Amino acid sequence: MANDEYEKMLEAFALAKNFLRQQVELGFDEVYAQVKTKKSTAKKEDRPAVTNLSDFYHQIKNCKKCHLYRTRTNFVFGAGNPEANLMLIGEAPGREEDLQGEPFVGAAGKLLDKMLAAIKFSREEVFIANILKCRPPENRDPQIDEIEACKPYLLQQIKIIQPKIICALGRISAQVLLQTKSALGQLRGKIHDFNGIEFLVTYHPAALLRYQQYKRPAWEDLKLLRKEFDKLR
Ligand code: URA
Ligand code: SF4
Repeated sequence: MANDEYEKMLEAFALAKNFLRQQVELGFDEVYAQVKTKKSTAKKEDRPAVTNLSDFYHQIKNCKKCHLYRTRTNFVFGAGNPEANLMLIGEAPGREEDLQGEPFVGAAGKLLDKMLAAIKFSREEVFIANILKCRPPENRDPQIDEIEACKPYLLQQIKIIQPKIICALGRISAQVLLQTKSALGQLRGKIHDFNGIEFLVTYHPAALLRYQQYKRPAWEDLKLLRKEFDKLR
């Protein structure tokens, strides 16, 4: 075999290995082969689903990939419209979320509902998720090993839902997804790209409950979100 052919083959093996490892990390124990023919021009509705959200929930709901499974009451998958065009991503379940198994149902969640209503979105039409699916004890910050273990689930949810816009709620969500250490003040008010999806950042509603001075910039962010959303429709 010619040298370059051999190298191409090695490259293909490496890619395949990487893909399989990712599938295992995502909790799949079966692999589906997909033969790519020509570039798809199909609309969102016609494209075959990577898998559906409810199947994915059942695949991962008993996850024990990081130690947070030991202290959780409930796994919090996320909630909302599986075909949402807007996805909101917070940090991790808090006390109420852990007890109810739903994202953003405590005080911060009530404020989030109001923020959405102010820009004419209902909770039912969007999808709300978190970086972590299980509550860190005493609501401490997520640790790097927990984020690494859990992030593939969120990435798969994004792949299935295919939102047009993602809005990160708070510093942790923004930094993890944009893979940056920049401060929230630097990240908000701009349009970022997340694998081809428009990506915005705003304050976490829990921060808005604590600090009055973030309310005005947060309102600017929400208006920008609505404007961008309407442009993409
Ligand atoms: N804070 C978050 O980041 N997520 C929730 O689901 C609740 C509070
Ligand atoms: Fe699994 Fe994520 Fe829960 Fe850790 S936080 S146990 S990775 S679902």
